[in-house]
Amino acid sequence: MMIVDPIKNILKRGAESAKFKYSLIISAIGMVHVCLVALFSFLQVLPMVLINIGSVTTYIICLVVIRQDGDMRGVFYATYLEIIVQSFAATICIGWRFGFPQYVIALVPFGYYMCHALIEDKRRYTIATILGLIAFGSFVSCRLLSVFFGPVYQLDIPEAVELGVYIFNTFCNFGFLFMVTAIFLVEMQTATNQLQKQNAILDTMANVDPLTGLYNRRSMHNFLSDAQDSQEEAPFCLVMCDIDDFKKINDTYGHDAGDLVLREVARMAREHVGQQGHACRWGGEEMLLIIRGDVEQARRIAEDIRQEVSSFAFGVKGQTIHCSITIGVALHQGGNTIDHTITHADDNLYYGKRNGKNRVVSDLELRAG
Ligand code: GH3
Ligand code: MG
Ligand code: MG
Repeated sequence: MMIVDPIKNILKRGAESAKFKYSLIISAIGMVHVCLVALFSFLQVLPMVLINIGSVTTYIICLVVIRQDGDMRGVFYATYLEIIVQSFAATICIGWRFGFPQYVIALVPFGYYMCHALIEDKRRYTIATILGLIAFGSFVSCRLLSVFFGPVYQLDIPEAVELGVYIFNTFCNFGFLFMVTAIFLVEMQTATNQLQKQNAILDTMANVDPLTGLYNRRSMHNFLSDAQDSQEEAPFCLVMCDIDDFKKINDTYGHDAGDLVLREVARMAREHVGQQGHACRWGGEEMLLIIRGDVEQARRIAEDIRQEVSSFAFGVKGQTIHCSITIGVALHQGGNTIDHTITHADDNLYYGKRNGKNRVVSDLELRAG
């Protein structure tokens, strides 16, 4: 855990910052070449010492280019070419058995990754494939070279040293493969997380009214059809709410004050409905609620909303506003359409508007007169 966390952080940073990521890759390859300078000095293979000093210099220049936001494609092609040159040179100088050509194998995933990251047009995978084939051709050519021409330097060294060099090369090659794969996976995960976050935002934007935070009409249609599908096991009521004399609030205190009142009333409706159903902004300052249960249950929730609205002091620009709401309640009955029940709730609402406002009207009130 103690080791994994810093590695995770490095990889995360690598995925987030292109500069850091490329510097990490180039520094790792450069460090391998520093080791190879020491190794070839020890083996007294002068051309390879010089080639590796050239490689280290190349990678230092690459790091400067990355630091100065220079052409990353140039850095990528230079790295690609350097690794191929290194494989040929090592094979010609000391032969196949030390495992130098295996570095070109790692060029295949590295090439695809870099082409994907750096080249924007459609040809990027074609270029990556051509580069991969060049890597393959280089690997096979090195093998053939070693078969047909012996190495220039016939090294007389213990077998353990030869094995050590081979394992060192294999270790570095696998390390390189792991690094490229891990960065790729972390990047993929980061992209997936970002996409999920964006989807959640889009989902909210598509379903929620931005002013009131209530569901919009579109998502209410989904809730209505779900409620209708399960009406036999779970009866429900539709409740239509309309703020009284809202135009007057707008005209007297301004549109912003109207918005504030609307937001607060919406919050109250949402809180009172709670887990009992759903609240949506049906249009203007009208809200439609689905409330699971019978008329009595829906009426009680509607009455709580009405009471809270009428007793609430809305603070607007240092002043206090009072307002009220009228609510129509209708039970959805099997066999009726949703539109029919909405019209029924609307009729009850307008009965309330015509008869004093600031009241809840259901069929129970109508029957009582
Ligand atoms: P009633 O008691 O009969 O409902 O009278 P009312 O004045 O509320 O009449 P009505 O419901 O027809 O008026 C709705 C007004 O709501 C008209 C419109 O300008 C205002 N309105 C609609 N949407 C918004 C909004 O998002 N913000 C604000 N501030 N006002 C809105
Ligand atoms: Mg109104
Ligand atoms: Mg209205």
